[in-house]
Amino acid sequence: MNEGLSTRCVHAGELDDAHGSPHTPIYTTTTFKFPSTADLLDVVDGRKSGSLYTRYGLNPTIASLEQKLASLEDAEAAWAFCSGMAAETALFLTHGREGIVCLGDAYGGTLELISSQLPLLGIPGHFLIGQELGRLDDLLSQGAKLVFFETPTNPTLELFDIHAIAAMCHRHGARVAIDNTFASPVNQPPLALGADFVVHSCTKYLGGHSDLTAGALMGSKELLAPVWNWRKNLGSMIAPEIAALLARSIRTLPVRVRQQNASAQAVAEAMAKHPGVARVLYPGLPDFPGHDLAKKQMSGFGGMLTIEVKGTGEDATRVADRLKLFALAPSLGGVESLVTQPCTTTHHGLAPEERARRGISDAMLRLSIGLEDADDLIADLNQALG
Ligand SMILES: *Cc1c(COP(=O)(O)O)cnc(C)c1O
Repeated sequence: MNEGLSTRCVHAGELDDAHGSPHTPIYTTTTFKFPSTADLLDVVDGRKSGSLYTRYGLNPTIASLEQKLASLEDAEAAWAFCSGMAAETALFLTHGREGIVCLGDAYGGTLELISSQLPLLGIPGHFLIGQELGRLDDLLSQGAKLVFFETPTNPTLELFDIHAIAAMCHRHGARVAIDNTFASPVNQPPLALGADFVVHSCTKYLGGHSDLTAGALMGSKELLAPVWNWRKNLGSMIAPEIAALLARSIRTLPVRVRQQNASAQAVAEAMAKHPGVARVLYPGLPDFPGHDLAKKQMSGFGGMLTIEVKGTGEDATRVADRLKLFALAPSLGGVESLVTQPCTTTHHGLAPEERARRGISDAMLRLSIGLEDADDLIADLNQALG
C-alpha cells in the first residue's frame, strides 16, 4: 500500500458502479439472489466472494466500507459493527476467553464489560493502572491471552508504549488490542507499532459529525476470521445506510483531524498560560509527561485535551456551565467542540478514592476540539474562566 492516507480515505474500497457513481451506492437490500443453486453454494461455502445476506456483512455497501476501514489502519482485514462496544464484545468473546488485561483508563462501557459482564461467562478480567505496568509480566504468566488498552487514555491523556508492550505480550504468546478511537488512524498506527488488533468507536472521529453510531475491528485475516461468526450470530452488523454515511465521513477524516490537532495545540498553549488553569494535559505540550513517547509513536497529538481548573469541582462545573461554544455533552471527535467534567459524567460511577488513584481530579474538564476557529474556542474558554 504506497498511496497516502488521504488518497486511501477517498478511494479505497469504492465500488465500480454501472451508472458511474464515484462512490459506492447504498444497497439497502437484506438478501441477494443467485442465478442457480450452484452459484449460491459457491458463496455460502466461501469458494467465491459475493453478496448473500446483510446481517452477515455480505452486502456490497458494507463490504466496500470494510475495505476502506482496513486501508485506514493498513490492515489485511476489517469488520464493521453497529457500535464500538459491539466490536469490542465480538473481539473479547473470540480472542479474550482465557482472560483479558485492561491497561490504564478505558471507556466506561469497556470497563463495565470486562469487570461486570464477561466474568458472568467465566472470562476473567484484570486491571492495571499506569504505575502498575510492572505487574503485566506476572499476569501474562498466569494465562491471560489478550491485553487491551487505549493510548492516549481518557481523561488524563496518559500514553502507553505500544511497541514495548506488544513485544512483552508476544513473548508470552498473548495478543494486543488497541482502542485507537482517541488518536484516530491519522495520528497513530497501532498495527505498524506491533499491535495485533485495532478497535474503533467510529461514532467519534471516523464518523466525525455526531450523527452516526458504528464500530470497527481491524487486524490480520487469520485473526479476524473467527470473529466473523460471533458478529454474525450476535447480530451486531452495521446497517447499509450507516455504512454509506460512515464511508462519506472517512473521505474527509485526514483534513478534519489535522485541523483538530492544530486547534487543540493552540487551545492547549493558551490554557497553559491562563492564570485560572492549574494544569493542561495534552501530548503536544513539551512539559507533558508523555510528550516524548507521543513524538515517537504518534504523528499528531490529537484533538482531545484536559484542563484542570484552579479551585474545586464546583468551580469547574461553573466553568463548564458558562461555556457557550463548547456543548456540555459526553462524546468526542465531532465537528462541534464538546466539554465534559469526568467526575460528573464518564467517571461518575467511580468512588472518589478510585478517581484520585487514577489521577482524575474533580476540577478537570475534558475538551473535544471541533472545527470552529481556534480563536473563538479560546475566547469562549477565557470568558467562562472569568
Ligand atoms: C465511545 C467510545 C467507545 C464505545 O463506542 P460506541 O460506538 O459508543 O459503542 C469505546 N472506546 C472509546 C475510547 C470511546 O470513546
